Amino acid sequence: MILSQSPIPWFDDFVGVAYRYYDLRMNVVPLFTKRKEATDLWHDSINWWLDHSIKIRFVESGDHYWFIMGADSSKPQSNISFFKVLPKSENYERFKNGHQGEAYLRLGIYADKELKDVKKDAMCNCGHAAEDHDKNDNDACLYEVCTCKTFKSFQVNLLKKKKTVTDIEFLDESNVKDDSLAWNCLNVNKYSKEN
Ligand SMILES: [Zn+2]
Ligand SMILES: [Zn+2]
Repeated sequence: MILSQSPIPWFDDFVGVAYRYYDLRMNVVPLFTKRKEATDLWHDSINWWLDHSIKIRFVESGDHYWFIMGADSSKPQSNISFFKVLPKSENYERFKNGHQGEAYLRLGIYADKELKDVKKDAMCNCGHAAEDHDKNDNDACLYEVCTCKTFKSFQVNLLKKKKTVTDIEFLDESNVKDDSLAWNCLNVNKYSKEN
């Protein structure tokens, strides 16, 4: 008898992924702008994932990478798999080099911050602190060499619930066929859309 498996839907409606040290371990943190969206998603899907079955795949392609995540669920009817194409970043490289085969999965809430929202030592995206920005000049950076015209920062709040992930792999698009989750993702979300 052949059991037919209904395909698990792919989900990419989140804003990005953060990589953070927290609780002495690297955390992989898919980011949402609305807390309710994240808590609902956890409650409906991730909560039912079987820890040992959770897979995270990173497929590199030029200066971008595909973040791919999926698992077996004890509630298969509400299961989803995640993917997102993201630019490679310093934090991504740090995770790649430092994860040692294990990570915590948590969801995070991402919020943009303006100068009036932050303490004076908060970092702007330009790399200079809040106190080096001028409230009387549209919050522009005071460093002459800097082109920053307005202080901009962001904050990530991590939700408490977490899962442990021990199946993490970095792949090239050329060997993606050997990995069923990554292959399925690229097939559905990339190759089948190309003509
Ligand atoms: Zn600056
Ligand atoms: Zn700045």
